[in-house]
Order: sequence, then structure tokens, then C-alpha cells
Amino acid sequence: MNVPLSREFDYLPPKAGALPAPGCRVLVPFGRRQQVGLVLGHANESALPAGKLRHCDAAIDKSALLDANDLKLIRFTSDYYHHPIGEVVAAALPAFLRQGKPLHPTVETITISDMAGSVDIEALAKRAPRQAELLEYLLDAGGNGVAATRLTEELPNWRRAATGLFEKGYITRFEARADDFDETLTSSAAEQLTLNDDQGTALAVLRGSDTFGAYLIDGVTGSGKTEVYLQRMQDFIEQGKQVLVLAPEIGLTPQLVARLRNRLGIEPALLHSGLSDIERLAAWRAARSGAARLLVGTRSAIFTPLKNPGLIIVDEEHDHSFKQQEGLRYSARDLAIVRAKQLDIPVILGTATPTLELLQHCRDGNYKHLHLPIRAGGAEPPTMHLVDTVRMPATDGISEPLGDAIDNHLKAGGQALIFLNRRGFAPTLICASCGHIAGCERCDSRLTVHARSNQLRCHHCGACRPLDTSCGECGEIVKPLGEGTERLEETLRLRFPGHAIMRVDSDSTQKKGAIHDVLEQATQGDADILVGTQMLSKGHHFPNLTLVGIVNADQGLFGTDFRSAERLAQSIVQVAGRAGRESRRGDVLIQTAFPDHPFWSTLIEGGYGRVAEEALAEREATRWPPFTRLALIRAAAHRHGDALEFLELARRRVADKADDTLRILGPVDAPMARKAGRYRAQLLLQSGDRQKLHTLLRELRPALEQEPMARRVRWSIDVDPIELF
Ligand code: ADP
Ligand code: ZN
Repeated sequence: MNVPLSREFDYLPPKAGALPAPGCRVLVPFGRRQQVGLVLGHANESALPAGKLRHCDAAIDKSALLDANDLKLIRFTSDYYHHPIGEVVAAALPAFLRQGKPLHPTVETITISDMAGSVDIEALAKRAPRQAELLEYLLDAGGNGVAATRLTEELPNWRRAATGLFEKGYITRFEARADDFDETLTSSAAEQLTLNDDQGTALAVLRGSDTFGAYLIDGVTGSGKTEVYLQRMQDFIEQGKQVLVLAPEIGLTPQLVARLRNRLGIEPALLHSGLSDIERLAAWRAARSGAARLLVGTRSAIFTPLKNPGLIIVDEEHDHSFKQQEGLRYSARDLAIVRAKQLDIPVILGTATPTLELLQHCRDGNYKHLHLPIRAGGAEPPTMHLVDTVRMPATDGISEPLGDAIDNHLKAGGQALIFLNRRGFAPTLICASCGHIAGCERCDSRLTVHARSNQLRCHHCGACRPLDTSCGECGEIVKPLGEGTERLEETLRLRFPGHAIMRVDSDSTQKKGAIHDVLEQATQGDADILVGTQMLSKGHHFPNLTLVGIVNADQGLFGTDFRSAERLAQSIVQVAGRAGRESRRGDVLIQTAFPDHPFWSTLIEGGYGRVAEEALAEREATRWPPFTRLALIRAAAHRHGDALEFLELARRRVADKADDTLRILGPVDAPMARKAGRYRAQLLLQSGDRQKLHTLLRELRPALEQEPMARRVRWSIDVDPIELF
């Protein structure tokens, strides 16, 4: 059951009908309500006294939705992340199934009637524009109709408009059986490329085994990693086996999906949050039945049942989106390896910037390390240069050398990408007279200036208000300080009039499909200059892009997190990797006020590999992961003292049981202590012995659930946290 308690619940079978098998859903009485539950297993006895045991009300499924392997992964996830198993099941099931709906639901569908064709749309549009819009949409969709859920997404208030159209008899509604997924494509698979030597060696190693093994394909950007696993995927697809591909954000990687489709000649079943519940369920069903051989999804797709599993791929293994940062805080990347082991199939992890965790596993001999050191197809690696912004200050974000470089590349017919990981116009609004800075009322944070919408917004809690015209403290003039992508866009427009400039960040791409359109246009070369956040760095291939400008990399140089250097190197190498992917060599200009910082010489001379090597040595010396394991316990409460007090209880419980393998850090206030009106604190547990750490957590979780204090705080356990705040 989807309840936040770390335990399972015992029930007697339904009074009528067969015994529901493990993996079937049942309706059960829970308290005074009825809940959807999943049968995890059968037992002959219960710790509950016989009189207290209740019967299930009914079975929902005749046969198991999830098989023994799926349940095994769910159980592992619950144990490893110390998270209530009911919530893990909920995360593993598509929304419809979680709600108790049938595996093959019918859906409310709206369609046009015979009369609709003769309606004068223009006349209708004058009287009732909403009705005309809806009718036109339905006319375009044709006779099979459109699911109500789809309409809600496309035309949010369609129901009001529909009432009038129903009355006039122009449209009707019916219950249709939801479509099944079909992988058939009309065009056939494209030719395979001839692999270069490194690719060939990597593929040969991969072909060495069909059973469990984890393979890291560590290849520079554009080295043909995707090409290698495409060919390996083909082996399995041809045998009728299924391949599950996990990708960071499908909305950001349309190129990957298109490439899989073209090369393998089948339609991939997609599993991600941009789908309607019905579409997602259809893909899930196709995975479970084996009707889809190719599945591409974001992190939660790791829980999808597979009828004939053959291979799992994790593309861009280093990407943070594989780790869920709220609720069930799992790493889909790590679970992919666990799942492959449970299923005894290979798992391939690809990236140009492997996480240190993975590199260390390779060194320890647990995973195989495959190298692709050069770009495929003859492209040269981009060259990196530093721009010293102390000697050559940046005006509104762009220094003279960077401006000149943009100019030169544009003149040579190239495209430029200007990267700044900060959206909005300016990160700060400051009073020119008293120095007062506009802050969020609910968070310990500054408000970001958004000039386009004339607002101040908090990027932590979402609060927003109209832009101040004068200082809240002294009434004098305020001005935006620093720059975000919006301001950069403006700077570039002034400096490069007549050039097409496109901004790509989460503000500019809010509309459904917007990101897809922008990337499409950028790929076609319709943008001369792209400005944006890390959204632009994810695996895209812009054929004409020859210059990457990194506006400000300095935040990462002095980060307090032990992962700062790894992160900074990853983000720079990834975005730099967009440059010069075809015939013309790429340039990368990095603006920094600290050009002598040793990080730069390591990165520029030794590449990501050298940064990783040095960072690993440092982590080993200082006993940070991957040489130790972490668990972070977070708490948040309306009263400042409560969060700390609760964590102090946790600390004492842990300290009582701990030995010298454990280090307890905290409790302390979180780096941003107040967020969305709640005070946040944290307790970090660090251990050289994973088993012991887990034993401690196993006892801690139910004990904390019992604490009366627990009702006054929101708390969570984050195993292998990637953010330490
Ligand atoms: P990665 O996944 O490492 O970024 P890709 O597989 O996307 O690399 O390959 C980068 C580019 O090189 C693509 O345009 C791809 O078609 C091309 N490519 C890959 N392998 C080869 C090869 N063996 N011969 C020619 N071109 C190749
Ligand atoms: Zn806020």
C-alpha cells in the first residue's frame, strides 16, 4: 500500500475467488478506508492475532502484474534506500495502476459527429471562440476521436466549451479501449557504420558475454559511444530480446530517440513524464508483454517489467537526473546495475565524464572499463582557452576576447553556444544607495530578477512578485547585479544585431514541445548564437557549432561540496563537447577570474581523466565516497529548533550503536537553513563499512517513525546522496 510506513501488512485472502498471486493488486480495508495494495508474498502465519486479521475485499488482477524479478527489485530498493515498500511499489507502477484501474482501461474519448463537417467555423469563432477552437482540434484529429486526458493537456478548459458542442450535437463522447503500443515502423533500419578500431574493440568485449557484467564506455564526446551500443542493442533485438535504455531527460534528447528508431528500424516505447497516463500505461504494458523490444525511459523506467530482458543501457551515466531528489531517493543508474545482476544480463553505462564511483568500480575490477579516446568520423577535439576576466573584464557577461571569438566564428559561418548555468536576468537586485538586497520572505535566498516578465522570483520556493522600482529599505534606486541567461541574450542582441539568437533554459522552454522545436531549429543551423543553461549541454549534436563560450565557471572552483571539482569538470567537458563535432575544429573559451587555479591546468592539459584521477586520490586521502559511504538524514520544520532537535534524537540513537567505522557529522543547519518557510537541518553519516551503515539505518528508520517528534518534522533518509544540502 502506498503508505509512508516501513512495514508490510498482512491480510487474509478475499472471501471469494482464487488466492491472488504475488504481484497482483488487491483492494484492502485500511483503517476506515479502502486502499489498493500489491500482494508481495504468501505466508502461513502472521504476527497479528487471528482475530485482528482482515480479509482483502477483492482481487483487482487475475494474473500478476509484476513477476518475481520485478518484486525482487522493489524489495531491494526498499531495503537499500530504507524507504517504505508501499511507496516503492507506488513509484514502480504507472499512475493508472496505482489508482486501481484495470491493466487495459477504457478511456473517455471525444469525437466529432456527422454534423460537425457542415459547421461554419468562422461564424462559430465569432460567437464562441473556445468552441470553435475545440471543434477545429477535433476535426483535425479525425474520426477516431481524442482522449479526454489529451484534450486536457492541449486545451486546458475544453470541458466548458464542450458543453455547448454536445448540446448542439456536433460532438459525442464514448468509452474506447486504450490503444496498444505497436513497434512496427514503415521504413526499415538504416545501414550500420563501419566501426573504428577502438569502437571495434569495445564491441568485441561487449559481445563476449550475454550474462551479467557492467561495462563502462568511457569515450570523449563524439567518440561514437552511441554507435557502439546501437550495434550491441541490435544483437539482442534480433534475438527477440528486450533492451531498456535509460536516458537523462527524453525531452532533451530527441536526437537519441530518432537515432534509435532509424537504426534499429522499430519504434521505441517511451516511458517518461511527458506522456499522458494512458500512453505511459500502454508502453508499460508493451514492456511487460514483450510487444515492445526497445524501451527508452527516464529514471523510473528502471522498474518497468520486462518479459524477455536482454540488455540495459544507461546513457550519460553521470547525469544527475538519474537520482531522484525527493520522496524515494533512488539512483536509477545504480538500480540499473542491481537489476542487470538480478536478471543476469549485461548493463552498459556510457559517458564522456564518468562519475568517480564508477571509475573506482572499474579499478577494483568490478566493472569493465572500455575506452574511446578519439572522436569518430575524424572530428578533432575542441581546444580550450582561458580568458582572464580580471585583466579583461566582462561587460554584462561577455569579455572582449569572447566577443571577438563569437564575431570570428560567425563570420566563418559557424554557430556559437554561450553557456551560463543561471537563468533569469540577474541573480541579485541591489540598492545603489544602501546596498540592500531583495530577498525571499520564505527562504534564506536572494530573489532573481526576471526582466522579461518584470518579476522577482525565488528559484528555491517559486515565490514571485512584481519587480521593485525602488529599494524596500531606503526608497532609493535599485539595479540588477550580475547576469543570467536573459541578460546575456540581451547583451548579445545589442552586440550582434542581425544575427539569430536563441535562448534555451527552463523559462524559455516551458511550453510543451518548445524544447523540441528549439533544438530542432538549432540543429538545422537556424540559430547563430545559442544562449543557455545546462539544458544545452546534454548530448546534442549541432553540426555547425564551432564555438562554446563558458561565461562564468568560478562558482564551482571554490565549492564546499567534496564533488565540486568532479561536477565542474563534467559540466565544462560536456558543454565543450558540443563544439566542432564535424569537419571544423571547435574552440572553447572559458571566462574565469582565477586562471592560475590548478584545476584549469589539470583539465586543459590532462582532460577529464586527469581531473578524475586527482580527485580520486584526494577522496581516498580524505575518506570521502567512493572510499566511504554516506547517508544523509534531513529534517525540516516550521519551528527552527524542531528540525535540529529531531536530528539530535537520531544522532543519539546512532551514536549508541556506532563503532569507529562511523563518522557522525551534525546535526547542523542546512547550508540554506530556511526554505519555503521551513527550517532545515541535516545529519550526515559516513562509514567505511557499508553493511554496518545499513544495519544502523535499518534500526533507525522504524525507531524514528515512532518518535512523537516525527509528527512535527518532515524528514527523510538519503542513501548515497549526491547533494549534501
Ligand atoms: P557519442 O555517443 O560518443 O557522443 P556518437 O555515437 O553520437 O558519439 O558519434 C558521434 C558522431 O560520429 C555521429 O555523427 C556518428 O554518426 C559519427 N560516428 C560514430 N561512429 C562512427 C564511425 N565508426 N564512422 C564514422 N562516423 C561515426
Ligand atoms: Zn523562496
